[in-house]
Amino acid sequence: MKKEDIEHFAVNRGNVLYVSTRGGKNSYSSAEVIKKGIADDGGLFIPTAVRDLYCDLERLCGMDYPDRAAAVLSAFLTDYPLCKLIDAARAAYSPEKFNGPAAPIAKVGSDYFLELWHGPTSAFKDMALQIMPRLLSLALDMTGEEKDAYILVATSGDTGKAALEGYKDVPRVKIKVFYPANGVSNIQKRQMSSQTGENVDVVAINGNFDDAQTGVKAIFNDPDCRAAAEEKGFFFSSANSINWGRLAPQTAYYISAYCDLVNEKQIEPGEKIDFVVPTGNFGNIFAAYIAKSCGFPIGKLVCASNRNNVLTDFFNTGIYDRRREFFTTESPSMDILISSNLERLLYSAFGAEQTAAYMSDLSKNGFYKLDGEKLRLLRRDFTGYYCDGDGTSAAIRGIFEKFGYLCDPHTAVAAACAEKYRRSDEYGGNKIVVVSTASPYKFAPAVLSALGKDVPPDDFDALDGLYRATGVAVPENLASLRTSNVRFDRAVDPEDMAMTVIADA
Ligand SMILES: *Cc1c(COP(=O)(O)O)cnc(C)c1O
Repeated sequence: MKKEDIEHFAVNRGNVLYVSTRGGKNSYSSAEVIKKGIADDGGLFIPTAVRDLYCDLERLCGMDYPDRAAAVLSAFLTDYPLCKLIDAARAAYSPEKFNGPAAPIAKVGSDYFLELWHGPTSAFKDMALQIMPRLLSLALDMTGEEKDAYILVATSGDTGKAALEGYKDVPRVKIKVFYPANGVSNIQKRQMSSQTGENVDVVAINGNFDDAQTGVKAIFNDPDCRAAAEEKGFFFSSANSINWGRLAPQTAYYISAYCDLVNEKQIEPGEKIDFVVPTGNFGNIFAAYIAKSCGFPIGKLVCASNRNNVLTDFFNTGIYDRRREFFTTESPSMDILISSNLERLLYSAFGAEQTAAYMSDLSKNGFYKLDGEKLRLLRRDFTGYYCDGDGTSAAIRGIFEKFGYLCDPHTAVAAACAEKYRRSDEYGGNKIVVVSTASPYKFAPAVLSALGKDVPPDDFDALDGLYRATGVAVPENLASLRTSNVRFDRAVDPEDMAMTVIADA
């Protein structure tokens, strides 16, 4: 960062404190919030103030991605020294790690695709998980914490690998990931079992994802496990997507995208753009809402869902109803019935008391209902569309045939929703940015099938097949997997998970 920019962003940072979405008088510094993850009352942490960053547009336009990220973080993590944020962002988002700029934009037809998958695991989770471990490590020092963090993760695939890559060799943390032995693809399995780093461990569970997740939750709450960890100088922590340390860094790429479009003269400064975001837990799209709260000219935020369309119904009717069938789709990272981060939006719009009431309705009755006026308020910023499996395949194929652009199934859901939005009455003509969340190679069999090609039974053959069919480059981290060394091949029964954790503490 240039000296004058450092001087600018280092001053007037104020002291942004955080509160729980469910109320209470306590407020916390960002370092405490990143360490704690979730509030004691079960709510999520949310900042009490948002800085206008749009007035810094010109400065931000002159920066590269790591410096933009540090500048954005400096507005939220006001207890972190700016120089530490700059160091963390430069290490996390280096061109070596991302094969170039961290969040490039591709022009596809009249739309733009914001590609968030150039990181070490080829999915957008890297954008947060490359920097969050560094923020946690700093938080331990800043809060005078004597114990180190022991991260436990249950994963159905993508998050586990992204967390391993993010936490590997970060000082004062170690990480253990549990995955269901028969519940992840061969590529995902190999991605994890070949993980490098001195502070990492990967264990397969003879069971399904629920077994793994239940096991991890039980360990968090087991006094014996906690005592054993404490004795060895650790406390348990999670890499969960509700942690503010994952959300704050995501705001940066929305702001960066706006700067890039201005720099490339695709938009005039001040011109509004709409984002279409493939949504699961509502973390990614909520980060866009924060960017809008920072003053950036963002029009509609289009929440794109797959067949699990609980959010589409919510934005259309004001009723959030989880009492419905759960579908397994070709966009698995969006297969979700409870979108945890939506709670942050409810708080921002309606306050703590109302949020606590909705959350209590949801856990007691399985649903909650906004009145018409409240729904209208949310619909000023948001709208929702969804796309089923056939629509997703058609989008992958159509976009490739028309523009030669290959997208993964999650991104394809968003692209299909963008099309529905464009044809709707509510579309006001803004330029549309589709948020692209995974490399097509991460989901090679589904993409091959959408293109109408034969899908080989072996995942690695599917990678090669997709390359032959499209000529689109295979990300290096996936191409080199087939010949990578397996470091972790241990499998345990679910009831032995706690013992494994204690033995390795
Ligand atoms: C996690 C994920 C999503 C959903 O993001 P949320 O923040 O949970 O809404 C979408 N696409 C991909 C590829 C993901 O990994």
